[in-house]
Amino acid sequence: MTEHIEVAVWGGAGEHGRSCYHFQAGETSVLLDCGGKKEHGGQYPALVAQLVRKLKAVFLSHAHEDHMAALPLLLQHGYTGEVWLTRETHRQLPGYAKAWRRYVQSRGGTVPYGPYDWERMRYRFLDDEAPQGEWASIAPGLRAAWGPSGHLPGAVWLLLELEGRLAFFSGDYSSESTLLQSTLPPAALFAGRSIELALLDAAYGDAPGTQTSHLIELTDKLAEVHARGGHSLLPVPTCGRGMDLLVELIERLPELPIAAEASLTLEWARMLRPDLAAHWLRDEAPARLASAMRRIRTVTTDSERRHLLSDDPHVILSPDGMMLAEPALTYSRLLRGDPRHAVIFTGHRSSDARTDEPYSAEIASCRYKVHQGLPDVQQMLRKLRPQRALLVHAETGATARLTSHLLRQGYSALNETQVWQQLPRADESMTS
Ligand SMILES: [Zn+2]
Ligand SMILES: [Zn+2]
Repeated sequence: MTEHIEVAVWGGAGEHGRSCYHFQAGETSVLLDCGGKKEHGGQYPALVAQLVRKLKAVFLSHAHEDHMAALPLLLQHGYTGEVWLTRETHRQLPGYAKAWRRYVQSRGGTVPYGPYDWERMRYRFLDDEAPQGEWASIAPGLRAAWGPSGHLPGAVWLLLELEGRLAFFSGDYSSESTLLQSTLPPAALFAGRSIELALLDAAYGDAPGTQTSHLIELTDKLAEVHARGGHSLLPVPTCGRGMDLLVELIERLPELPIAAEASLTLEWARMLRPDLAAHWLRDEAPARLASAMRRIRTVTTDSERRHLLSDDPHVILSPDGMMLAEPALTYSRLLRGDPRHAVIFTGHRSSDARTDEPYSAEIASCRYKVHQGLPDVQQMLRKLRPQRALLVHAETGATARLTSHLLRQGYSALNETQVWQQLPRADESMTS
């Protein structure tokens, strides 16, 4: 057995985007995620071809662009193996691949691979190989276990065993989703061993907020907009937090009428399928979601949109968290001239998000947590007790503040955990 698991960051630590991590123990090496970064019209991980060719496996934690948009580049770098992911993540890939291409083109860039390169990728499904929380054999000297990470349906954490050594990858993680299940590796997987290396989602840096505190901020804002006679537009991704927001808003603001685009309600209704609900939703979630869905107004056509906007003030959930596609653009056009209305973003916005056109309607940001901040990282370190931890998915400053906070709280002593702020990584990004 080798001394320890070596990790190389090819993207995603000290920055938000292009997540890509190389783990190696002896002759066994794997890659975790291979994403794009939105800044500057699209950036990609610093892939090292001679290491890519030797990979035993590539794992994809979930379908978001910042984790998957560079996967086809692996083929260009000589990877001939499989990409391991869940069936639900696989189903979502084409939508996110399209969204990435649309984003890059909207910034005048080109994607450095063809749309058909996705079809050349070979996939294996983690959930076919083993149920959640149990080991699956991936290759000689390599086992993996997975479980839901509470970030998005299909999103997983991974526990890897490389030549007998354990490494954990949280993926994008939240234990605070209203509807989505989240777990951590069960004790049975460890057999008395400890995790040598943990890569933890710390996208919110040292932010101390809880989901409840953010929801209070959001509902206060919605009530304020409603009181002044305005509509609130919430652009949300098709899967994930829109579903949570719907249930929270219906339950917290029962007096406030809510409308949602049909493409969202179709996706939410699909999650009520017993097999999907059992995999990805909390026990009580299907009943709460079904009840919330009975109380919303569904919108499909442009004339319904216009009719809705001339009606009493509504909270409107529309697909596309970045507001780059229809129907979010139509809503934006119809609402922009009136300062009573508001567009409220609840997710991460890249630093080149559009602000070029005059806008009378209010633009606000109220976070809905789908990642980890200070209290969440603390809790994860307490539960997993890894020997080394690397905090990823945030800019250097935020990561440094979180790290010094954790060190002050004694995490360097806790089970000899070292918290690494950042690791050296291959120098040049493969920007197209
Ligand atoms: Zn994500
Ligand atoms: Zn992410």
